[in-house]
Amino acid sequence: MTAATADRTDSTYDNVVPDRAWREEVRRLVRERDAILLAHNYQIPEIQDIADHTGDSLALSRIAAASDASTIVFCGVHFMAETAKILSPDKTVLIPDARAGCSLADSITAEQLRAWKAEHPGAVVVSYVNTTAEVKAETDICCTSSNAVDVINSIPADKEVLFCPDMFLGAHVRRETGRENIHVWAGECHVHAGIDGAELSRRAAANPDAELFIHPECGCATSALYLAGEGAVPSERVKILSTGGMLDAARTTRSRSVLVATEVGMLHQLRKAAPGVDFQPVNDRASCRFMKMITPGALLRCLREGVDEVHVDPVVAERARGAVQRMIEIGQPGSGE
Ligand code: SF4
Repeated sequence: MTAATADRTDSTYDNVVPDRAWREEVRRLVRERDAILLAHNYQIPEIQDIADHTGDSLALSRIAAASDASTIVFCGVHFMAETAKILSPDKTVLIPDARAGCSLADSITAEQLRAWKAEHPGAVVVSYVNTTAEVKAETDICCTSSNAVDVINSIPADKEVLFCPDMFLGAHVRRETGRENIHVWAGECHVHAGIDGAELSRRAAANPDAELFIHPECGCATSALYLAGEGAVPSERVKILSTGGMLDAARTTRSRSVLVATEVGMLHQLRKAAPGVDFQPVNDRASCRFMKMITPGALLRCLREGVDEVHVDPVVAERARGAVQRMIEIGQPGSGE
């Protein structure tokens, strides 16, 4: 943690209400700081609505890197703000609460990855984008759920692969590529537990006319991605979509109801895109507590006081950038907004 970290014993920002005065103050401070305000799809609706851009982590990092703003305010979890810093090392990157972690990113450390690599010399390391900067620095190619299969297919068939940290995405790519020489780390996101196979099948059977949208970008729905491939729900009703694809499908669907297998925050964007369609979560408890740590008060403090600032060691960032760049070059890495 750095000097530019909030004093969280100060209760000034505890009960901030996202009203009109808050919105005006947030926008004024964004201008004053020459900042761009980004919100992940899983943020609370008020934060999504005040942001300059809403999307998945990679799309937001690309928008940040292309922007002229000198400061990036990233309303999401810590690894996402780190990825923005890796891609924009000369910009100031702020996150409203640096304690907003990710159970999936925390399921492997750089030290554990180094030990795993030592057991498999010569193996190619593929890491999901939900990893810390230190883990990315130990990685050959990062991937998103959209391009994980393409990334694996880009590696010579006789090369061993170490895939981390998401075991569901790992099982999915192993099945899709038919490769036996992929070792998968046993990491997972705590939110996916709310989207299990029994729940998925039961909801699909109870809503026979509903389509099923799966958006697995964040790790929370990679279990649904895996289960759909296993035939837990009728394949003709399943659509596996990136953020942009999901919003396009929402606008064009002929179905009047859609079940959504992802973190519940995504429903806000979908309902705005297609108000006539009834979007329901597969499980309304599929909510990420880390994402919800970015409160209206935390955002206000962030903009007023310039906290919390995200730093990545330049040497680590340089190595991590290579893995992220390779991800961007292969297949369809993710959606843009
Ligand atoms: S939903 Fe899961 S993968 Fe996404 S930030 Fe939260 S804990 Fe991490």
